[in-house]
Amino acid sequence: MNRILLLLFLVLITSCADLARNPASSNKIRHIVFDIDWTLTSEVKTDMQGPRIISVEGKKYFIMNGVEEFVEDLLSRKYTKISFFSGGSKERNHVLLQKIKLSDGRSLEEIAFKILNREDLTTSPGALATDKFSVRFKKDLTKISKDLSELIMIDDTENFTLNNSQNEHVIGLGKTYEYFKTFQASTEAVGEYVPRSIDEWSFAKYKLSIIHGAVNSALRESEEQGINLSEAIQIEKTQLNLASNQWNDYSNKMYEQSRRLSKQKSSATCLQLMTSFIDI
Ligand SMILES: [Mg+2]
Repeated sequence: MNRILLLLFLVLITSCADLARNPASSNKIRHIVFDIDWTLTSEVKTDMQGPRIISVEGKKYFIMNGVEEFVEDLLSRKYTKISFFSGGSKERNHVLLQKIKLSDGRSLEEIAFKILNREDLTTSPGALATDKFSVRFKKDLTKISKDLSELIMIDDTENFTLNNSQNEHVIGLGKTYEYFKTFQASTEAVGEYVPRSIDEWSFAKYKLSIIHGAVNSALRESEEQGINLSEAIQIEKTQLNLASNQWNDYSNKMYEQSRRLSKQKSSATCLQLMTSFIDI
């Protein structure tokens, strides 16, 4: 019996080896802000069902691949705060965020530092009633933190923040598409938001994971080189070139990095298992 326990212990130690690399953090507070619509979720047809489809106020939304892993990775960092800033109504945003659950059972609403909504948008002076929503109303990122040097936002809508200087802090998703479970399914659809190739479809499918990898790199660079997070993310944005709407070597690398980070999280669960094993 003792041999079996020893063997099990050794297997757990091996599986948890990835945990060894856990970079030290400086104690600056870093803010990661997520938009909601077409960033964390895509609205889908009301008859659609599936494990990643949620229903909110009579509409259905697909939860983008990689959302939970991204948020859980950020939560594991001591000085990182997560917020949400969306043009949706307060009531809709809170219900939607309540329905996205992490592996420990907490919802995105529970882990949020701030949730800002349509009511928190700033009216753009001089905009016309006929202008599009993101021209008439702006997201003022200083409502999350006065110091923007350690703040980045992920948003599909271009130029939605208050001014050009705030736009520098945004990682734009580039072109987004309707959700299609497979590329084959998209070939039966038509419209502006239908991917035209399997590469476009897969790039959209994994985009949040790609950004997860890049944000991880920016956080590490800012810690190791002593630069601001907002400076570090500029380098990532240039290399990813998400506006090109195409995979490149760097986006491939960042996607692989996000997969490794998710595996490390599994190792962390493994460590908890090992702790309970030692308690026996
Ligand atoms: Mg959006």
